[in-house]
Amino acid sequence: MRLPRPVVLGNWKMNGLVDDARALVGAVKARAGDAPTGTLGVFPPATLIERAREWVAGAPIFVGAQDCHHAPKGAYTGDLAAPMLAEAGAQAVICGHSERRQYHFEDDATVRAKADAGLGAGLKVVVCIGETEDEYLAGKTLERLDAQLAGSLPEGSTAGDVVVAYEPVWAIGTGRTPTDQEIEAAHGHIRARLVERFAEGGDIAILYGGSVKPSNAKAILATSNVDGALVGGASLDADDFWAIYEAGLGASG
Ligand code: PEP
Repeated sequence: MRLPRPVVLGNWKMNGLVDDARALVGAVKARAGDAPTGTLGVFPPATLIERAREWVAGAPIFVGAQDCHHAPKGAYTGDLAAPMLAEAGAQAVICGHSERRQYHFEDDATVRAKADAGLGAGLKVVVCIGETEDEYLAGKTLERLDAQLAGSLPEGSTAGDVVVAYEPVWAIGTGRTPTDQEIEAAHGHIRARLVERFAEGGDIAILYGGSVKPSNAKAILATSNVDGALVGGASLDADDFWAIYEAGLGASG
């Protein structure tokens, strides 16, 4: 089933202790009311997932995890398996965020195995792809996206359980973004690949991520084939996060 647009997800990264997190979720919940028309999600650190589910109770906000291990259990000290995250209350998991690819050396096969594990545990999966600055400057963006799409996305991905997030690595946390034309070209390319490969490829949500903020959200979210945003830094401020969501209401391509 196609996720309602816009799909706006907040990746808190390694930020959030109980008091601040409760206040942040409470402030988003207060704005969300009963029935926003899109899809709104927060991805706190794993330590807060269970509490976050309690805080969002009654509001149309889902809660996800930022990563999972590919195995269901085993001798992997410090890791968390997808079924554990699901049991803690996670409803989705981000796989292959560039910070995982960069700092934890995750390759496409690992990301794909994690995504499969997430789906196996009943979670929606948000698969992140995106070129590095060197690849961007060398004009290799689409080539890189092709490789990541082919290697990272689970077979049989459907519009109800898989989201693709296009996040240029050089745009994450830098305040820099591609031009609207570049975003349109990348998203159009991703859409074509999804349609080629999956029966529901035309309906799988493609999010843009990388320095989205209230001031640029309207233009980005109105771009063709941009179905929403994966928001990092700005998701830690309820006003900014909500402004981005509002910018997307009725604007997604
Ligand atoms: C992210 O971490 O997924 C992200 C998009 O970060 P930021 O919005 O801070 O660039």
